[in-house]
Amino acid sequence: MTQDELLDKILSSTELPTLPTVASKLITLTAKEEATLADIGDLVSRDISLSAKILKVSNSAFYSFPQQIGSIQQAVSILGMNAVRSLVLSFSFLNIKGGKTPNRFDFEIFWEKSLASAVAARLILEKVKGIDAEEGFVTGLLQNLGELILARTFPEEYEKVLQDVSDNQTDTCAAEQAVFSADHTLVGTRVAKRWGFPESLIAPLEFHHEPEKYTGNNTNIRTTIKAVYLSDHLINILFSDRPEVYHKKFQKEANKLLGLTGEALESILNQLHLRVKEAGTYFNLKVKSSKSVQEILQEANIRLSLINLDYDQINKQLVQAKINLENLTKALEEKNKILDNLANIDGLTGINNHRFFQNALDQEISRANRSSSSISLLFIDIDFFKKFNDTYGHQIGDFVLAQFAKTILENIRQYDVLARYGGEEFVVILPETNTEEALAVAEKLRIVIESTIFRDTREEYRVTASFGQACGKPALEDNFTKDTLINQADQALYEAKEKGRNRVVAFTPKKKWFSF
Ligand code: GH3
Ligand code: MG
Ligand code: MG
Repeated sequence: MTQDELLDKILSSTELPTLPTVASKLITLTAKEEATLADIGDLVSRDISLSAKILKVSNSAFYSFPQQIGSIQQAVSILGMNAVRSLVLSFSFLNIKGGKTPNRFDFEIFWEKSLASAVAARLILEKVKGIDAEEGFVTGLLQNLGELILARTFPEEYEKVLQDVSDNQTDTCAAEQAVFSADHTLVGTRVAKRWGFPESLIAPLEFHHEPEKYTGNNTNIRTTIKAVYLSDHLINILFSDRPEVYHKKFQKEANKLLGLTGEALESILNQLHLRVKEAGTYFNLKVKSSKSVQEILQEANIRLSLINLDYDQINKQLVQAKINLENLTKALEEKNKILDNLANIDGLTGINNHRFFQNALDQEISRANRSSSSISLLFIDIDFFKKFNDTYGHQIGDFVLAQFAKTILENIRQYDVLARYGGEEFVVILPETNTEEALAVAEKLRIVIESTIFRDTREEYRVTASFGQACGKPALEDNFTKDTLINQADQALYEAKEKGRNRVVAFTPKKKWFSF
């Protein structure tokens, strides 16, 4: 479809919105040089509902005139012809909704944004000296009329445009060009011409994306075009998801195009959301965004810094978490070691406990098994210790128990394993030790104990102990077990007690007790 074919199709389409009679007659009338304000007042007041709407806005803060405007005639003379025409057109267009076919194009949002643009353009023009701001509103409102017409006339094709814009962030004009070989500025302009719009309204429709292309020498029109162009950046602060980008763009270009600076810009930015909200009520349009530009920018700022912070923090936290984990692992290992030790150490004497003994014996047996060596076991039990406790008290008993363990420990080899078996009974594992050697060790220990004087601050204590010895060769004995070895040593100890205590007894398989 060529551009001409496209425009023909649009202009002859039943989807092309028809202007309300008052609006189209008003345009024709205002185009005539000889038209008087009275003629205009006459025309508009014939439409009662439209007149009521216009009067309502005329008396609102939208204009903030000090005196009450009671009639359309009065409105025309006070507000001026352009203002009234602007209002009539605005009311007429704001009624245009979707076409007959269902459409993905959101007409509500379109008008909400258009109304915001209208407010923005008017607000901008108010800051430019010597310019009639009245047409800023209606041109801001109608700047994207072409979009609405394209969407109504070619709903399916326009969906492609919407898709392209949302998927690829394509500029609307470029996306329209790709689908229609024309964009909304051309379509809007042609339709506005068909409706007989004056040059002051058409030019902003045509050049609002490229204000530098306007070659006419009407300053008011040139300024209005620039304001409409700027209004797009301004409303993108409210509606886009990158408000900070448009805020910068707006400030830079408003300064470049219209020489607006600090205070004027600030005033525009401060008033924008309130004016949009206000206009929403005058023109009966739902306006969703009610946040101020400042709030929006602040939120965007927080969002941006959060994104950065999040990333930074995640990094920091990951590093910290890693360090923490390493420290924790180290601490845990150390704690485990301590716990392990605690679990293996007897609280009273500080030597290995029964649990440790059982594990150590397993290990020593398998070592003896591998090396085909002998392993001996000594069971040591303090003699008449019940009596000792009874005589000196349990506390002294504890003291002696600890000293006893210490003494034994000092008199065995480093690789022998001493443990408290329970109560006043101890056990020594003697790796690579045969019966003869073990008996020698036991005898040495017995003598050491017998001759040791345990001293505390008050008294001296002596004890004796009985020793039961057993020896095994795990690799050579068919029915060797750990329990057998323990039982044999225990039996030998029992025999030592039986035989009068303070002695060493070796277990002998033939029930022949061998004693010193
Ligand atoms: P025997 O010569 O037959 O071994 O006589 P004994 O009194 O030493 O033996 P018995 O088994 O009758 O009594 C053991 C005593 O050891 C009883 C208990 O008071 C004492 N004893 C066991 N454990 C501890 C301890 O942790 N601290 C103290 N102070 N005494 C203990
Ligand atoms: Mg005892
Ligand atoms: Mg005992």
